Amino acid sequence: MCSNDRGVFPSADLQRVLDLLRAKGYRVIGPTLHDGAVVWDTIVRVSDLPIGWRDRQEPGRYRLEQTGTDEIFGVVHGPQSLKPFVFAPREPLLHIERTQKGFSVRPQLPAPEKIALLGARPCDVAGLAIQDQIFLKGSYPDPHYARRRQGLFVIAVNCTRALPTCFCRSMGTGPRAPTGCDLALTELDDLMLVEAGSQAGRDLLSELPLQPTSEAIQVEAAKRIDACAESQTRLQGQAALPRALYDAHDSQRWDDAASRCLACTNCTMVCPTCFCHTVEDRSTLDGQHTERTRRWDSCFTHEHGYIHGKNIRPTIKDRYRMWLTHKFAAWHDQFGMSGCVGCGRCITWCPVGIDVREEISAVLTSDGQPSLARSPERL
Ligand code: SF4
Ligand code: SF4
Repeated sequence: MCSNDRGVFPSADLQRVLDLLRAKGYRVIGPTLHDGAVVWDTIVRVSDLPIGWRDRQEPGRYRLEQTGTDEIFGVVHGPQSLKPFVFAPREPLLHIERTQKGFSVRPQLPAPEKIALLGARPCDVAGLAIQDQIFLKGSYPDPHYARRRQGLFVIAVNCTRALPTCFCRSMGTGPRAPTGCDLALTELDDLMLVEAGSQAGRDLLSELPLQPTSEAIQVEAAKRIDACAESQTRLQGQAALPRALYDAHDSQRWDDAASRCLACTNCTMVCPTCFCHTVEDRSTLDGQHTERTRRWDSCFTHEHGYIHGKNIRPTIKDRYRMWLTHKFAAWHDQFGMSGCVGCGRCITWCPVGIDVREEISAVLTSDGQPSLARSPERL
């Protein structure tokens, strides 16, 4: 089948996609190798991508290795999700200037930019949908986020290899890209299966010299994606998890986790869905100009729990319990969904290797409840 919705092309022709996107005014951003990790950066040539590299990720450990193959998307992901492209780590909100009559306020919005993100993983597309809900769907849509989001064209890559830290299948976010991307690729050795997920994606496909897909290609792609799902560690019983976590508020396991947690904030920085931030004002010495800036913050810092003369989360135990319970329980009450997409970054980038799946299981088990993995029906 070859239509506006899907088709195949030789992997060696991926450059045509890049060229077409650039001709349409997009800055193309993809995974690149930098300082022993994979990070997002502007790419011009397919050779800018980490071809022939794979990542190994475990709790507290990340390594890249060469495979000697022509695999283009062998690396699953680096420390960054798509979050920085829509919710900037630091950005000016207002410029305030003293005038003869008082002061004037000038809102600062980011310049519009068309960005095509090539190589987003399904869990990150799901993370983007969660951020959309937080920043755009409430009573006060965020204009900074909206401006950045407007220019994004997302090309996802379905996963055919899971890391030991991945659990997207349990969270219902992968390894096949959910709705919300413009195009989804599946790399099948020297062929690339491409499927459109939006009208913008269909428009782009209509300008590419695609070959028809066949039943055999579709079956092979589904087989590899399903095998990736099968290979993952499960975190089961999602429906009853919120109640079970609320009930485990006084579990001893929180003390154990707190004795290992450094409150370094890494887990929240790399998480695609964490959205805590703070606002800072900086004035010039003469008091004429002030810039109000928003920057990422974390619920793991002492300062973040300080409200009106009291710290509501003075200990690391309070903060770890709040973070985990918010992600897997309170998020459902707040936004009608889980706050975790199962990307596993908080596991890899935790310097002491705390694994959120193990903590959930242990919190419930230590309270006399069965482990999540063994007795999903209890949850
Ligand atoms: S909590 Fe951990 S596994 Fe879940 S989305 Fe955040 S970083 Fe990924
Ligand atoms: S990354 Fe690990 S040590 Fe750092 S705050 Fe998160 S759980 Fe604690």
